[in-house]
Amino acid sequence: MKKTILILSITLTFSLYPQEEKVSDGPFTQLIIRGATLINGNGSPPIGPVDIVVENNIIKSVINVGYPGVEIDEKRRPKLIEGGKEIDAFGMYVLPGFVDMHGHIGGSPQGAEPDYVFKLWMGHGITTVREPSGRGIDFSVDLKNKSLKNEIIAPRIKVYSSFGSGFGKEISSTEEARQWVRLNAKKGADGIKFFGAEPEIMKAALEENNSLGLGSAMHHAQLRVAKWNVLNSARSGLTSMEHWYGLPEALFNDRTIQNYPSNYNYSNEQHRFEEAGRLWEQAAKPGSDHWNNVMNELVELDFTIDPTFNIYEASRDLQRARRAEWHEEYTLPSLWEFYQPSRISHGSYWHFWGTEQEVAWKKNFNLWMTFVNEYKNRGGRVTVGSDSGFIFQLYGFAYIRELELLREAGFHPIEVIMSATLNGAEALGMDKEIGSIEIGKKADMIIIEENPLENFKVLYGTGAIKLNEKNEVKRVGGVKFTIKDGIIYDAKQLLREVKDMVKKSKEELKYEIYQPGLRENTFNK
Ligand SMILES: [Zn+2]
Repeated sequence: MKKTILILSITLTFSLYPQEEKVSDGPFTQLIIRGATLINGNGSPPIGPVDIVVENNIIKSVINVGYPGVEIDEKRRPKLIEGGKEIDAFGMYVLPGFVDMHGHIGGSPQGAEPDYVFKLWMGHGITTVREPSGRGIDFSVDLKNKSLKNEIIAPRIKVYSSFGSGFGKEISSTEEARQWVRLNAKKGADGIKFFGAEPEIMKAALEENNSLGLGSAMHHAQLRVAKWNVLNSARSGLTSMEHWYGLPEALFNDRTIQNYPSNYNYSNEQHRFEEAGRLWEQAAKPGSDHWNNVMNELVELDFTIDPTFNIYEASRDLQRARRAEWHEEYTLPSLWEFYQPSRISHGSYWHFWGTEQEVAWKKNFNLWMTFVNEYKNRGGRVTVGSDSGFIFQLYGFAYIRELELLREAGFHPIEVIMSATLNGAEALGMDKEIGSIEIGKKADMIIIEENPLENFKVLYGTGAIKLNEKNEVKRVGGVKFTIKDGIIYDAKQLLREVKDMVKKSKEELKYEIYQPGLRENTFNK
């Protein structure tokens, strides 16, 4: 019965694009990916050529079939059974599917619908996403279940609903907190995303949630951080922190509250982001006792840091984020409008963002990156999360940028891949199923023609710029195939479909991407 539904739904997916290339194929009774170099998520160095055998959605064997530069001995290779499928990946690279630990599935102000978001993610090799609050639990759980059955083109989704959402009123007692946590679990959530609450409510909610075995994430919003920083969270059993707020506060030596100017107003987004950019310099210095003690305690508590560096990058270099080359073809008009400077849109803090703010943020990044890199070096778990759909950061593309920023923080490229795959799987409690290419795990993989360890930019949907021997400028890379649950998706075709959506929307609206202040904003205002 289940199988019939699956086949029907896949047929449906194909029929939506009758005149175009097939966007997905499989699963197969047997799939062999032949001759690739394996870059695994478990910290292992690249090795190849390997043949990877998959049956339906499970990896059955990973076989070393030779040596670089030596012809493969066919006798050593696994045989294709009748009805099986082969991918010749000789000279290519295979990696585990990426885990995005911070992926919001669009929403109304951005005008980004699931199909658009999912194709951008899958087009960049992201096969698992943790959604840290979204458009209501029923909306998310529905998508999660459809993705589980592969009825839609989407990464597997882990739903972390916003604490208190759907409760009808603010949670104001420990009993209400526990009640909400139980209800959240019952509705099919995988965890909770906190923004902050009174300490006793945080404690009760985390205790109840942990007893049910669910995960937790927290954006330590400034409004509550004076009484509850990252250390309080980790000690009370929070499993992962998002972004970075709450961490400098745990490192304060000579103050308990950040140095807010007297005219500060949290609802003024320029105030909020500008002062945040001066936070790390107010914390304990790298290598100081306080710095070391906080870091060691967090490592000891098996706490996960999900920095989402990329979503703050516009703070240190607005023009870079704003002029990213993918905006023209991949950013929806509604999303572009949402990014524009505004006193009312979240993350559109460009009231008068200039040299002073960017310089402060560059210093902020240096200290923050120093902490995160050292955290990794001392055995702490660091994951990759994107938080796209805000601040000029686009789904999928921003995830690749996050890999580059971890590299900038000091991670070895193999450490970056590990953060993006196995670490994410561990943080989600899914490392028995996904996160590396090992026997018995689900067949979630990325196949790409270029070596991402040499240059992460080859993972961008727009590819990396490369001058060839004939002095011709070419684009190389872009994920070729994203495999999820043994189903092969043509990643480039997924991205072409996104381009078509954007083109269609622009035609309907007679719209072109423009730069702030050079034309009237037309919607959202
Ligand atoms: Zn977020």
